[in-house]
Amino acid sequence: MAAKIRKGDRVRVLAGKDVGKEGRVISVFPEKGRVLVEGVHRVKRHEKVRPAKGRSGQEGGIVTTELPVDLSNVTLICGVCGPTRVGFKIDDEGVKSRICRKCESEL
Ligand SMILES: [Zn+2]
Repeated sequence: MAAKIRKGDRVRVLAGKDVGKEGRVISVFPEKGRVLVEGVHRVKRHEKVRPAKGRSGQEGGIVTTELPVDLSNVTLICGVCGPTRVGFKIDDEGVKSRICRKCESEL
């Protein structure tokens, strides 16, 4: 299944406290329908000192981190026309690609 939003995409936030913000997708959680976006949904968290679990070099204390946002709350940004909806097209060779539904350029 082709994902509408992929790691590395630029997206704009449509809802929540960070509405209007734009950022790069750091990671995608398809099974949860969520994406982690750079600089979006940042929260300060108190972390206990504990053995690092997948995070190297972090100590206890207050850390700022991003929380994943719902996929339905973000939209992809087209390099040509800005925030847009994603469509798909299949070319003559059967290759599926993402396109902008407004200008139909490949994303
Ligand atoms: Zn476009």
